[in-house]
Amino acid sequence: MGLVKSEKEIELIRESCKIVKNTFDYIKDFIKEGVTTFELDTLIENKIKSYGGYPAFKGYRVNGKRFPSSACISLNSEVVHGIPSKNTVLAVGDIISIDIGVQKNGYFGDSAYTFSVGEISSKKKKLLEITNESLFKGIAQAKDGNEVNDISSAIQNFVEGSGFSIVRELIGHGVGKKLHEEPPVPNYYNPQNKYRLMKGMVLAIEPMVNYGSPNVKTKSDGWTVVTADGEPSAHYEHTVLITDSHPEILTI
Ligand code: MG
Ligand code: MG
Repeated sequence: MGLVKSEKEIELIRESCKIVKNTFDYIKDFIKEGVTTFELDTLIENKIKSYGGYPAFKGYRVNGKRFPSSACISLNSEVVHGIPSKNTVLAVGDIISIDIGVQKNGYFGDSAYTFSVGEISSKKKKLLEITNESLFKGIAQAKDGNEVNDISSAIQNFVEGSGFSIVRELIGHGVGKKLHEEPPVPNYYNPQNKYRLMKGMVLAIEPMVNYGSPNVKTKSDGWTVVTADGEPSAHYEHTVLITDSHPEILTI
């Protein structure tokens, strides 16, 4: 499909994004000490389905393997794609990133937040603030006539200028009839990326920021991406529509 969406397609994407937003509004009150990530996942799945949507990650296939859960839930040194589990119990001081994708009527919405469980260290607090702020620096560049690289550079410069590092193995993406479409939206400047932004494009912008080194690895479960040095990582994401004036955040 084209990078530029029709009015009708944008309305359908908007509807899926609204379900993502409402699910976050609902789930945030359940994020507490003693709760398992499996319990959160079940609540998320039921909420999405109550709106007639389908959790986009459930059964999402990579290299012949299907993701088993409705949301990706990643704690502390887990970067993304954490699998919810009955054995993962939230404790005070944890940071927990929840990534929710929704499909309804064939169109997708995608967003992520990193939450704190009770009081967290000042180190983690700073990481969350910088990652969230970097997302908005990127979104501010999501304008007709700019390039994808303007988004990428804004995020990279802010994050690295703040003393943190950008994960390179995972990037943002277009959103539409598929959860992951063109264009690629890296969180770092890439001279090979020539994509120009046009009114009607829909992008998921999603910085993944590490406290320590940028290096990551995948755990033996085949999904969970963790920092190589065991330091914490944060992730925020919004689905954004390019307009002829300000970017419109569809998942807020
Ligand atoms: Mg996502
Ligand atoms: Mg995404």
